[in-house]
Amino acid sequence: MKTPIYLDYAATTPTDPAVVSVMTRYLGPDGVFGNPASRFHSFGRDAEEAVEQARVDVAELINADPREIVWTSGATESDNLAIKSAVAAYADRGAHVVTSAIEHKAVLDSCRHLERNGFEITRLVPGPDGLITPARVEAALRDDTSLLSLMHVNNEIGTITDIESIGRLARDRGVPFHVDAAQSAARLPLDMQRQHADFVSLSGHKMYGPKGIGALYVRRRPRARLEPQIHGGGHERGLRSGTLPTHQIAGMGEAARLIAKRREQDTAHARNLGRRFLDRLQGIEQLAVNGDRTHRVSGIVNLRFPGVESESLMVALPDVAFSTGSACMSARIEPSYVLRALGLDDDSAHGSLRFSFGRFTTAKQIDYAAERLRDAVAELRSLSSVWHDPCNSDRRAPDSPEGGVRVA
Ligand SMILES: *Cc1c(COP(=O)(O)O)cnc(C)c1O
Repeated sequence: MKTPIYLDYAATTPTDPAVVSVMTRYLGPDGVFGNPASRFHSFGRDAEEAVEQARVDVAELINADPREIVWTSGATESDNLAIKSAVAAYADRGAHVVTSAIEHKAVLDSCRHLERNGFEITRLVPGPDGLITPARVEAALRDDTSLLSLMHVNNEIGTITDIESIGRLARDRGVPFHVDAAQSAARLPLDMQRQHADFVSLSGHKMYGPKGIGALYVRRRPRARLEPQIHGGGHERGLRSGTLPTHQIAGMGEAARLIAKRREQDTAHARNLGRRFLDRLQGIEQLAVNGDRTHRVSGIVNLRFPGVESESLMVALPDVAFSTGSACMSARIEPSYVLRALGLDDDSAHGSLRFSFGRFTTAKQIDYAAERLRDAVAELRSLSSVWHDPCNSDRRAPDSPEGGVRVA
């Protein structure tokens, strides 16, 4: 088996070979390299056709109208565009924004920017299960709320937000609703005819497409208002200027087509791998899964190993690629703000690891990673005085912090 093994699909997915093959058609002197805005010759028109076909493919993935899709450079830009422009367009409602403490930085930092400019931000804190419930959202919405922004699937713990119920709430209260669906587009069905959201962020490289491309869905009926943040040549009906990257867009379109075709297959595969991974880890003392066990996607598993530092595990497992419950913030290792919001203390957050997998992960890779992980945890615990010192036996089995669910 080839190593290192990639178990970090939540950070980015490998580009599907079918996507790569489509993208190359739009590069090179013999490719469709024209500027899609150059309508007066075939080079431009061919490129435009590719862009519009991809728009149809992405729209179909979420059962939307192609005219509701705006191309961006990724979900970070989509989040910025949705949040900053919605509060400007809906300023007549007020200057209050509701979001959660476990959003992606693209949302949290956009909200912080608004806060510095006089907005009031309510950051909902999840329960220990990591879920933002409709009841919590309902209690936070006000008449002057000009935006509600929540993610569909959390990128660190894989929990699923009930955006369907929350969407109904938002619609009933007339509050514009933005959903960051970067992690869910490849994993869960999205249906804009059935679900209510005014804005939905998508990212190419989280759905087996290329990096540097994304989309923002903007509802037409009832019409969601958008204020452009990037001005220029009036591309994308004036909503987002800049020459369209045909190869990136065609790649994202192909990625969307592939997901529509094989999501059930991908989902079943991830479910099997997820079960297999946890099965293989059975027996590791005090192993816990962070986040709710039911409302979650199978492809993101966040585990906690009391008595083990995730950084040490990372060093002990050089041939398995995964993420830890910590992030390097200006040269210091900080515990993940998502895990902290679940109520985990610093030690528990530092002892957490995220494994994420998908379409190209094999059962063999999962078995190998699980085996190496078991060995590494046993080894590190045998070295840790706290863990095996008999004089410290009371510390040997600290109570499982709330929010974790034991695997056994
Ligand atoms: C990856 C990610 C983003 C950022 O997407 P980019 O396309 O990399 O800018 C935003 N939100 C979530 C939930 C993500 O997982």
